[in-house]
Amino acid sequence: MIGGTFFFVAFLKLSCYTSIQMYRGEHLSMSQKQNKPTELHRMVDVSTAQLNHSKEQSLLYLRQKLIDTANSFVNDIFQQEPLDSNPTKKELQNILLEKQKDVEGLNKGYAEKARIQAQNVVHEAHRRYFRRLIGRLAHASERIKEKDASRLYYYVPQHIENIITEKQLKELEAFVKQGSTQKALDLFRAVVLEKESHPLDALQVQVIQEMHRQVLQKHQRPQFAKGDDFCLQIHLDYRFVTKHHERIHEMNERAVLIFDEENKQFKTFLSLSNPIPRGKRIQLPICIRERTIKRLDRQGRLKSIVLELSENGVKVKLVFAKQKTNPKPVETCQFAIGRDFGYTNTCTLSVAKIEQTLDEEEVTRLCNLDKEEAKQYLSTHVQEDDNIVERKQFNGKRFLALMNEHSEHIRKLSSQIDGIYNKVERLKGWLVGTLRLAKDAWISKESRFLEENVQRNHQKFFLLLELVEKLKRKRRWLYKKMLGVRKSWFGFVANEEVSLAKKYKAIVIREKLTLKPIEKESIEYKGKAFNKMLSNGARGTYENISGQKLEFWGIGEYGVGAWYTSSTCIKHGLVDKQMRKSQESFVCPLCAKEKNADMNAADVLANYFGLKAIDL
Ligand SMILES: [Zn+2]
Repeated sequence: MIGGTFFFVAFLKLSCYTSIQMYRGEHLSMSQKQNKPTELHRMVDVSTAQLNHSKEQSLLYLRQKLIDTANSFVNDIFQQEPLDSNPTKKELQNILLEKQKDVEGLNKGYAEKARIQAQNVVHEAHRRYFRRLIGRLAHASERIKEKDASRLYYYVPQHIENIITEKQLKELEAFVKQGSTQKALDLFRAVVLEKESHPLDALQVQVIQEMHRQVLQKHQRPQFAKGDDFCLQIHLDYRFVTKHHERIHEMNERAVLIFDEENKQFKTFLSLSNPIPRGKRIQLPICIRERTIKRLDRQGRLKSIVLELSENGVKVKLVFAKQKTNPKPVETCQFAIGRDFGYTNTCTLSVAKIEQTLDEEEVTRLCNLDKEEAKQYLSTHVQEDDNIVERKQFNGKRFLALMNEHSEHIRKLSSQIDGIYNKVERLKGWLVGTLRLAKDAWISKESRFLEENVQRNHQKFFLLLELVEKLKRKRRWLYKKMLGVRKSWFGFVANEEVSLAKKYKAIVIREKLTLKPIEKESIEYKGKAFNKMLSNGARGTYENISGQKLEFWGIGEYGVGAWYTSSTCIKHGLVDKQMRKSQESFVCPLCAKEKNADMNAADVLANYFGLKAIDL
């Protein structure tokens, strides 16, 4: 493509285009997949000390050089048309192993990291390309559902949509449904590459071509470090050196953890090989105590070290791995934590002392009660003693305010972006009309026009497009920031939950996540971004975060039906929605005392397995 040209029709679809963010977390999830499922991982942040100028420059160089190398590797193996030659991962690797030898100015170990990343993302891009082709073929007859759409089908060219029949489209779909995916891909190959139409008719061929055109348009060369907030993650093998410095010079690629007892300021250093071959190692002072590592090492094994390089600085993370252990049998548990996940209060935890010995079979039965059975159970079983030994409530006020602030900002940006797109659309109409261009004509940014007003509007058109890109970058950045805020708050709360569970050797009982609609009155509408991140996925996200931590520490987690937990008084065996006076307040007429509704729910959950039948 010639630089500066712009596709007139395609630009309006830019909003669907998402930049590819690699490295971020991807490597870890890949290595998790490759590992035996019995190994659990956990990442721990480690703080680094202020770096001096030369170390900082070396690391910035490493970041840039590694990104450039990875991008050049991507260029070497990326296929514009994967249908043509579909190289296996092994083949991609072989090509790059040759290229890797020619890399200059980058230590071998780092060049290898770049190679592995490049072959993985390219392989994944090719696979995505094939998945998209097959996906479209499988849904050939799918119609566009929006009322005011100008077209009928997603994948059928507009000029034949009234001629082609449902039957013809279903025949295309059958290629995926009956045969293997290979059969479907062979069809694309035959039609697109070999111009072979058999066994399709002319209209079907056009559909295949349209699908291919759409997918090819989306099939873009992956690019490292696209976003401005791009953070490069390098996973390093490591080894310990307790008494420092011996033999380190022999090591080239590995990171070495050094404990230096004689150093007054720092005891721990991460010693990295220099990005430049045969350069002096870089010693990063980091703040972890040897004790911490030893403690974690007893419970989990230090597996690797992750170096995160962004434009703003350096972060170091330790990855711990641990064999998966089954949670202790429920019979041995004397405490249970009830977790209520909510809106105003992100999380409310109650720890209940359980008097009787729990029974696995009974616990399983209680987890699977249906709505009627749950009501029956809760109104005939009680906990008369006050057996709650500790409670913790995490108020989400500040978190919500922060999220709201960002989301308000996103909302404003979005309306700005929409406004600019409208202007762009009008300008486009005007230019196409004035210049008598075809609808899908190419126009160059560098074009010059004699008429002054054409020249002016042409310029304005491209300026607005640039502006819209800038605003969209900002919106992406804010969106990521929101995700970060949520992740760190949920992570903090989940850590508190885990330490509470460890303290009492307790199990955790929570409501089962059902797909019930969100209560409208409890959630104020605050715009799409806010809702998306808080109502729909929030509880699921929290459960994933805490679930992983609980699993890592071998803490049993149980889900019970989400019925009546917020409208039950366990002391009196009363089940009545009326007792929940408001979002905040719960009042049982027999207790006659107001309770925080979330705390009551957490109490009910904590006691769920330990209730005793009422003697009648
Ligand atoms: Zn009561």
